[in-house]
Amino acid sequence: MKKNLNQKLINLAEYHSLINTDILLSNSPIKRKLNTNLNSISGSKVQKLKKLKDNIKSIKNCELKKSATNMVFADGNISAKIMLIGEGPGSNEDIKGLPFVGRAGKLLDKMLESIKLNRSKVYISNVVNYRPPSNRKPTEDEIKRYLPYLVKHIEIINPKILILLGSTALNAIIGNEEVISKARGKWTQKNIGESMPWIIPTFHPAFLMRQPEQKKLAWVDLKLIRDKIKYLKI
Ligand code: URA
Repeated sequence: MKKNLNQKLINLAEYHSLINTDILLSNSPIKRKLNTNLNSISGSKVQKLKKLKDNIKSIKNCELKKSATNMVFADGNISAKIMLIGEGPGSNEDIKGLPFVGRAGKLLDKMLESIKLNRSKVYISNVVNYRPPSNRKPTEDEIKRYLPYLVKHIEIINPKILILLGSTALNAIIGNEEVISKARGKWTQKNIGESMPWIIPTFHPAFLMRQPEQKKLAWVDLKLIRDKIKYLKI
């Protein structure tokens, strides 16, 4: 009789261990629905990007979105083999609905020009798609919230080279243990969704405006990118 009871208790414990109480107790049905939507995005590249954009537009209860004027999705050539990721829109970007159109964007354009690139040869997006108030850094939670969309974005564009501009993009894509001053100028290859780009972190142009003496290191990184473009025959 006792043995029977013990067995019943073991069975009950096993049964409970199979239930994911996190899902039962959290509000993640919303998140699961969104992620399912992301997983089922299909069609041509243009259609996929439109669906991704619609998914981002339907994000609920986001503080960034509440205070922003426009969503900032991307700029550049959707067929480009080089993709750049910044941190998040600033005030000019928020007004125009395009990434890197302010002072940092001007410097970014110069950096691209120095290795014979421009916006028709690259594709640009950000870690978060809405302007963080007062240009603060996006929080960990905000980064986590937007990461599935960014991963999908990279997967759809499927770049051969992914340039991470600054620590927010570095930490979102590679991990929090990395620091930009150490990771910059080093290539890694990593699966992002279904894509497998060569990834290089470098300094964010806004940081270079504050610390112009670091531009010489950014130039080292740009030359590495130029060499990789040649090597990969892009
Ligand atoms: N800084 C960023 O990180 N992204 C922009 O789009 C503009 C400035």
